Amino acid sequence: MALSSTRTNASRAAVLAFLGTHGAASRAEIARSLEVSPALVTKLARELLADQLIIELTHSPSRGGRPAQLIGLASHDIGAIGVKVAPDHLTMVEVGIDGEVTHVETRDFEASSPHALATLVTAVSEVVKLSTRRTQLGIGVGIPGSVQEQSEHSVNSTQLGWTNVPLGSALQSATNLPVLIDNNVSALALAESLYGTGRGHDHFLVVTIGSGVGAGIVSHGSIIRGHSGNAGEIGHIPVTTDGPVCNCGATGCLEAAIKEESLVRQARSAGVIGPHDGIGALEVRGAAGDPRAQEVFANAGRLFGRAVAGVVNTLDPEIVIVLGEGAASWPLWAAGFEPAFRPALIPQKRGIQVVVEGWQDDRWAQGAACLILSTPFDDAGVSGKQGHLIRERLTTHAGAPS
Ligand SMILES: [Zn+2]
Repeated sequence: MALSSTRTNASRAAVLAFLGTHGAASRAEIARSLEVSPALVTKLARELLADQLIIELTHSPSRGGRPAQLIGLASHDIGAIGVKVAPDHLTMVEVGIDGEVTHVETRDFEASSPHALATLVTAVSEVVKLSTRRTQLGIGVGIPGSVQEQSEHSVNSTQLGWTNVPLGSALQSATNLPVLIDNNVSALALAESLYGTGRGHDHFLVVTIGSGVGAGIVSHGSIIRGHSGNAGEIGHIPVTTDGPVCNCGATGCLEAAIKEESLVRQARSAGVIGPHDGIGALEVRGAAGDPRAQEVFANAGRLFGRAVAGVVNTLDPEIVIVLGEGAASWPLWAAGFEPAFRPALIPQKRGIQVVVEGWQDDRWAQGAACLILSTPFDDAGVSGKQGHLIRERLTTHAGAPS
């Protein structure tokens, strides 16, 4: 294939993915967003119209004026699979190219089991087989851990207890689809930037509380991954000198102090909840007004607030989005968070908005699927060979008779 033809196909893919993720748009808007010439978009649109992959739509402005000529996707028969891997469960979704979740499935999972990889591969293969879409672009996987390259074949995760688990290659050979893997909070931040509160912001911070503590950083509209994929590991900010030992081996990490397991341990040893009660019982006590339960959350909120203030002072985001299973009990956290967070901010940032979003497990899996959907915009090339395969599948679909 000649170079010029490859470039044109990549641009066609970018136009399709743009329409899929942002909805119908005018040619001028597409040219601006993709940073290409309007003439090129006009040419690509003509080709895509001829291939019946897009359709013309006329949009009449509500306050008069000239109707705008928009183009939109003709087919939503292209999709991707997203998987969120947690220590005790898997959440799998199928999404259309517009990012809409059309299938959700959650299964129990035991990450520490010797059969974990085989179980995961079987579960994902079944979701792929059930799909009725004509083209699946690939499988995106979010894991709690660092991923140096999205397209690398093996992964490490202290939370899952995994060392060099060949997740990527196992899924590729079982499904014959491209696979991209990333840290699950980075994937979540990607979903936020495409479909959530983050959509209107070029610089934002997603912070998560629950079974772990993490952050996804978006700057200039892109996820910041750092030198080795470890950017955003705010759970390992040292906050105390004598705290419990963390999964990472250090002492006094934020995550070791405020993850759900630690709150439960503190509450049990103080007799706030019974020896077999969990986080649910602690939340019920707190909500019912038990001051000792409230203090466990408020203390966690204080530590979290000071740490997040340091991150905001360092990165200068426009907005902070709080997510994760712990966000469900945010009013209990907020009692400690707000008084610790605001005064620790530099004056210019003191008014920053903190938005708390409800717990949506499928949003994380949707984020993993977004790793695949956003690949045609992967200017930095972080998706490597797998990204190339995804673009190839999109352009093959584009070239196939409908
Ligand atoms: Zn740590």
